Amino acid sequence: MKVIKFGGSSLASAAQLEKVFQIVKADKDRRFVVVSAPGKRHEDDTKVTDALIKYYKAYIAEKNVADIQNWIIDRYRGIIDDLSLGQGILERISKSIIDLASLPIEGNAFLYDTFLAAGEDNNAKLIAEYFKKNGLPARYIHPQEAGLFVTSEPGKARTLPSSYDKLEELRNCDEVLVIPGFFGVTTEGQICTFSRGGSDITGSIIAAGVKADLYENFTDVDGIFAAHPGVVKKPHSISELTYKEMRELAYAGFSVLHDEALIPAYRGKIPLVIKNTNNPDHPGTKIVLKHTGATIPVVGIAGDDDFVSINISKYLMNREVGFGRKVLQILEELNIRWEHIPTGIDDMSIVLRARELTPIKEQEIISQLTRHLEVDEVEIERDLSIIMIVGENMKSHIGVMAKAAEAFSKHHINLEMISQGSSEVSVMFVIKTEQEKAAVRALYDSFFNS
Ligand code: ASP
Repeated sequence: MKVIKFGGSSLASAAQLEKVFQIVKADKDRRFVVVSAPGKRHEDDTKVTDALIKYYKAYIAEKNVADIQNWIIDRYRGIIDDLSLGQGILERISKSIIDLASLPIEGNAFLYDTFLAAGEDNNAKLIAEYFKKNGLPARYIHPQEAGLFVTSEPGKARTLPSSYDKLEELRNCDEVLVIPGFFGVTTEGQICTFSRGGSDITGSIIAAGVKADLYENFTDVDGIFAAHPGVVKKPHSISELTYKEMRELAYAGFSVLHDEALIPAYRGKIPLVIKNTNNPDHPGTKIVLKHTGATIPVVGIAGDDDFVSINISKYLMNREVGFGRKVLQILEELNIRWEHIPTGIDDMSIVLRARELTPIKEQEIISQLTRHLEVDEVEIERDLSIIMIVGENMKSHIGVMAKAAEAFSKHHINLEMISQGSSEVSVMFVIKTEQEKAAVRALYDSFFNS
């Protein structure tokens, strides 16, 4: 039994839907189809979800909504006409889009989520209709009926554990179930979405709920590449990754799959495969709990920018009990998340995402560190990037660091900091952003091209 999820670019046009239908039909185990809203047909196009945001903004500002309503309805109409699905489904979708503009605005914490969810909800109805018309017994099912219940946290819902028992009952359905991604329903019956890109999360929850043998996530690339294709020319697609490796790569900028989507499938011990709707014969990337055979030490190289570092020095820091706690407490009180803390004997660096450090918070940190903690020096270092080499098998290989250091040295890349967690799944290098691309290329050449 398989759960199959299609992203927006796989559902952007009738031609894409035809591919989707062939993929679902080709394997009778593909019983649960989770869908996104129609995505972009070309570079300059607008995603239906983004159009719904525009619609919501116009509605709450009490502006004329007719143009944006029509744009959204026309988007579905184009697909319905090209697939010759008839008037019934178009009327159903039009009504649902128009009705959004009669929902209460005042005191409605879930209004934004309800607008956004309409993108996937209507697409699921359309797709179920299309499958049925082509002889595949299929049924649209709303998350409420399916049993996907979530916390009341608009825009960042989390699944309620009680959902899983109810979802398991879906195994007994005979039809192919078409489920809209991206949202669940609160116990009070309100629509509540996951964060953007959250249809991946729905797929993972359904896979865990129905105890699927496989969660297939279809997108528009041949799986996950060993480095970003915008940085490295034609990087190879990774055939197998562990959940831990995927998490590390996603953290450092690999965005093929929503990072929260890994959790339900991981806990449910369900293997996941990322495949390409436009090239379904390509095996894609399988994400597994443990590698199935021998693998190379480094499976992927990621880089991400927009980091800053708070560099603190204080003579005899190592002897001062509680120093680290006091520093972190300052950050906690300012509600700042930190990412890494490389240390020396008398110094400590706190690496953060730049967006965490507003000018006011920065001043406050500097003032508290100098006045209360009496540090000798504090400096904010900006324009930093992190580079990660990732691979569970690094642990049992000697010379991985030597190889990385040699690549950096050969390309004159200056390392600001290095950090490796005890699980040894990754090594992180902090460098200046201006050298990020060169660093990723240097590492890719060294680990994969040599
Ligand atoms: N349509 C939503 C978004 O654009 C969710 C998704 O596509 O996964 O964020």
